Amino acid sequence: MLLLNATYEPLTALSARRAIVLLICDKADTVHHDPEGSVVHSAGAELTVPSVIRLRTYVRVPYRARVPMTRAALMHRDRYRCGYCGGKAETIDHVVPRSRGGEHSWENCVASCAPCNHRKADKLLSELGWTLRTPLVSPKGPHWRLLSTTAELDPLWLQYLGEGAA
Ligand SMILES: [Zn+2]
Repeated sequence: MLLLNATYEPLTALSARRAIVLLICDKADTVHHDPEGSVVHSAGAELTVPSVIRLRTYVRVPYRARVPMTRAALMHRDRYRCGYCGGKAETIDHVVPRSRGGEHSWENCVASCAPCNHRKADKLLSELGWTLRTPLVSPKGPHWRLLSTTAELDPLWLQYLGEGAA
């Protein structure tokens, strides 16, 4: 389930059980039902399992500057394309190799196809004459925090996650 703030800003993914508790306690409203939604009975009420719910009151989210980098989030940023050749990426490459002091960070990691990753090995781009197709930036915003912590995204959620997520 996707939980939205009262302002429709995405907050977090949560379990169906927690989502239903919020609905039953009148803390949240359903925005979208799960298309294959099952119906649950609780305290004499009948509820269709939601896919997206929205809080009735606004909650302030503590500001966190850095979005944690995970494999899934990095692949999303790079749209599953190799940063060197544009082919289908299935690995993550450190632009400045770790053996040469490269960091495991948004700015030094790029999605890469296996052949490019293999050819690059522990060399620098300048030694190969390679360039990156796009600059490597750290994504910002609440939808990225959600992306980096959620393995599976419901397509229904994408409209609430902003352009960066689509
Ligand atoms: Zn490649």
